[in-house]
Amino acid sequence: MTFDVITIFPDFFSSVLEYGVLKRALAGGQANIRLHDLRDFTDDRHRTVDDRPFGGGPGMVFKPEPVFKAVAALQAESPGGRFPVILLSPQGRLFTQALAEELTSQERLVLICGRYEGVDERIAEHLATDEISIGDYVLSGGELPAALIMESVIRLLPGVLGNEESAWQESFAAPQAGLGELRHGLLDCPHYTRPPEFRGWRVPEVLLSGNHQEIGRWRRQRALEKTWRRRPDLLAGFPLSEEDRRWLVTLQGEERQPAVIPSSGE
Ligand code: SAH
Repeated sequence: MTFDVITIFPDFFSSVLEYGVLKRALAGGQANIRLHDLRDFTDDRHRTVDDRPFGGGPGMVFKPEPVFKAVAALQAESPGGRFPVILLSPQGRLFTQALAEELTSQERLVLICGRYEGVDERIAEHLATDEISIGDYVLSGGELPAALIMESVIRLLPGVLGNEESAWQESFAAPQAGLGELRHGLLDCPHYTRPPEFRGWRVPEVLLSGNHQEIGRWRRQRALEKTWRRRPDLLAGFPLSEEDRRWLVTLQGEERQPAVIPSSGE
């Protein structure tokens, strides 16, 4: 999968690409990240990418011409090829694990990183095919959001994570098969490693038992419990088994917490 990032700070990305899973995926050829300096698509001596906003007000805005030119240059490389042109923007569709999974189906993505007050609206309206926000807060540039999106998409690409770190059981991983509109899973269960006792806090006994069925049940119950306590919104529409439901009823009885147990998935 190829990511073409359009930015005025290509060097911003160097450290991000040099560690861990991203570094491995780039070396292994599962992902390819190309950084394009927006200033290379300007015509003037000062390589100007921004200008003052019409109507007045503070800050500067990215001019449309260089951004349109940069994207056109990428499109010219693969004539006929259509790929998403994503504008990073706090006004975009909220980035989630489900969206990361959706993006893995693309062979190529363009990511446009804004700066200053943002970009000329004609870029959003007539060039970008999608606008993505990484959350309801404002950053000073699209570079961190672009890095974050690449990180979460690339680790889902086939062959990037080894078995030991596989993504399917992590928080939000969508359950497989036949779940209709459901786009997310539960929060992950807690994890422990050695020592079995640290400062008097013992690891849950069941994890030391070697009984894989019991361990599996414990993990499912803890994942349900964490989700129910912290993110009950994720349980809405989630396909609970009878056993799951019994466990939630037990929890509710114990805690007398005013949480709602959603009806089962269908
Ligand atoms: N004036 C704009 C914010 C501009 S922030 C507004 O209020 O909507 C400058 C740039 O940072 C944006 O163009 C965008 O590329 C990036 N950015 C800031 N916050 C972001 C977020 N939450 N998600 C994605 N990109 C963001």
